[in-house]
Amino acid sequence: MTFNESEPHYSDVRTAGSEKIAALAEAIQAHSRIAVFTGAGISTESGIPDYRGPNGVWARNAIPHIDSVQTDDASRREMWAYRREHYPLMLARRPNSGHVALADLERMGNLIAIITQNIDGLHQKAGSDPDRVIELHGSTHNLRCSTCGRVYEGSAIQQRLEDGEADPRCEFCGGPLRTATVFFGEALPPIALQTAVAVARASDLMLVIGSSLAVNPAARLPTIARENGAKVIIINREPTPQDAVADLVIHADAGPTLTGSIDLVDSMRKEASR
Ligand code: NAD
Repeated sequence: MTFNESEPHYSDVRTAGSEKIAALAEAIQAHSRIAVFTGAGISTESGIPDYRGPNGVWARNAIPHIDSVQTDDASRREMWAYRREHYPLMLARRPNSGHVALADLERMGNLIAIITQNIDGLHQKAGSDPDRVIELHGSTHNLRCSTCGRVYEGSAIQQRLEDGEADPRCEFCGGPLRTATVFFGEALPPIALQTAVAVARASDLMLVIGSSLAVNPAARLPTIARENGAKVIIINREPTPQDAVADLVIHADAGPTLTGSIDLVDSMRKEASR
């Protein structure tokens, strides 16, 4: 199964019990500096498969090694052929109720930022302030020249691919282009990582949503938050290596869990203001 399938691939929705939804709502209500950390799991309900979940295969085709992108013309052409076919499907993906609930959380005023491992841009599409979304692995909607760094929009390069270019080159310097995402073998963008660490330190509650917490340095962020006094809540379909040290663990789907809790916070606030 690949991310180009038209229907979300999770049919067996896992719903959190009402006690857990209430506990999450109370935690959100009690904290004023919330950091959210999202992984591929928040976007599966939008039809984009995750990487390490039971159905995850997305990365097998989509993330090449940096060396092949920079030095091997054949691998780069293969990458562009894949993108030409699949980028329109990624562009068509819509935010799900989990993304929307997080945009609602931001409007409630107690969210510092969303730190995401995702490259799909769905938090911004759901209405989250782009300035409050830290993309640790970049964005598939931006491209840049490997040589001079000139930035290109995804749709502009898509047009050039569809017009027949097999290995699009920079208009300024002729260098090879690449997506502004982190390839295998590459470090995370230092400024995004630095900001994410600062947000984790400054938070009083971190919500970890849809990440297997398998890879550092991103998987260290909940530990950094906890060591600086924050509570940590994990919402994930499957167990993670950090469940034992979290303050609350909810093994359920992100969308209904977040919607249920944010709706409850909203009701609590309305009740309190009466
Ligand atoms: P991961 O694939 O390692 O883990 C995802 C976790 O989310 C799994 O443990 C799974 O059980 C859980 N999950 C799946 N659906 C869920 C749902 N509806 N609700 C709650 N939990 C759910 O993801 P990761 O930790 O983010 O690492 C994957 C890497 O691959 C990332 O670095 C990311 O850059 C990349 N990736 C991105 C996308 C995207 O942009 N949407 C998709 C796939 C992979």
